[in-house]
Amino acid sequence: MAPALEPTLSVWARGVAPSPTLAVDARAKALKAAGEDVCGFGAGEPDFDTPDFIKEACIRALQEGKTKYAPAAGLPELRQALADRYAERWGAAVSPGQVVVSPGGKFSCYLGILAVCSPGDEVIVPAPYWVSYPEMVKLAGATPRVVWCGEESDFKMSAQQLREAITPKTRLLILNSPSNPTGTVYTESELRALAEIAVERGIYLLSDEIYEYLLYGAATHHSPACFGPEAAALTLTVSGFSKTFSMTGWRLGTLVANKAVSGAVADLQSQTSSNATTFAQYGALAAVRERAQAEAAVRSMREVFDRRRLRMLEALRALPGVSCREPLGAFYLFPNIVDLCADADDFAARLLEEEKVAVVPGGGFGAPGFMRLSYATGDDVIEKGLSRLERFCLKLKAAN
Ligand SMILES: *Cc1c(COP(=O)(O)O)cnc(C)c1O
Repeated sequence: MAPALEPTLSVWARGVAPSPTLAVDARAKALKAAGEDVCGFGAGEPDFDTPDFIKEACIRALQEGKTKYAPAAGLPELRQALADRYAERWGAAVSPGQVVVSPGGKFSCYLGILAVCSPGDEVIVPAPYWVSYPEMVKLAGATPRVVWCGEESDFKMSAQQLREAITPKTRLLILNSPSNPTGTVYTESELRALAEIAVERGIYLLSDEIYEYLLYGAATHHSPACFGPEAAALTLTVSGFSKTFSMTGWRLGTLVANKAVSGAVADLQSQTSSNATTFAQYGALAAVRERAQAEAAVRSMREVFDRRRLRMLEALRALPGVSCREPLGAFYLFPNIVDLCADADDFAARLLEEEKVAVVPGGGFGAPGFMRLSYATGDDVIEKGLSRLERFCLKLKAAN
């Protein structure tokens, strides 16, 4: 008898975990499709439509036949417009050759990691982290070194923590401000302290700034790349259009780095995905060039987010057994639920089954004991979901 064929997968395939945020979203959508009235706080995308002026630019490009391959690193005019924008913001020269446009900010992060990390390297990942960072690091053959940064420091890494985490193998530090999942925002001096250490120790910095325009209260955005030429040379700045302009399905991300790194990213991209969708890049070009319209679109979205943020923060803080820091960016709240339930996975699963409320448990973000709620959802869903959540928490509290 022939031996049974054991299907075996590669180390990459065996090592990778599926995205838990997309999994929660899929489960909630399946329940909804089955006719259940689900209140979804799981979404990692704005609930607004893409602004019309961006769509129109894309439609025009399609009608003009801009449907062929573009240069792998992006449309030259888009790279130029982005370089100009960064140069203006950073007060430093940025050339189009330093900019690469990719199919999504997620792919920009991955190619950036691939461009600087080799097997055996260590990458410092502050937790709570965006779910994909450790997986991407492993897919580059490198090792994530996760450092817990708790509520007492507003989920931010201190200079001391960074110093202690560095080893001779450290190659890269990943920062994400404003943060997904916590909404925390680093101040200029906090970022400067970390960037100084990176420069001193010759460590690359991946600065994921995808939520750079979604800031509330007195929070302001800062990029390590503008802390002088040495910091700029070591920083890979990632951003994109998904969150700022509600363009998640367009798949467009950007990376700015020194010429050697961005050249490597462009080469990696040319052998893997090739260019980001050509006509989509024309939409992005309008988003960068039509500044007044872009600012108006972002402002109106931010106003709605801010109102929901405050409403949900107030409601979460009133729940028994729940505490929540005030997030100053992105569109997430990240409450602590350890007093209610030791296992956030269990909490989230029961909340979905019993109350039809979808949240993302903290485990996937390296933060068991927390949950992520997105306020990129309608006001009616928020009100209904909050009252169901309250009922659930009271039930748990009574059973404890
Ligand atoms: C959404 C997100 C991205 C990138 O999203 P794309 O849709 O791939 O552009 C990158 N980093 C973080 C932290 C995000 O939340």
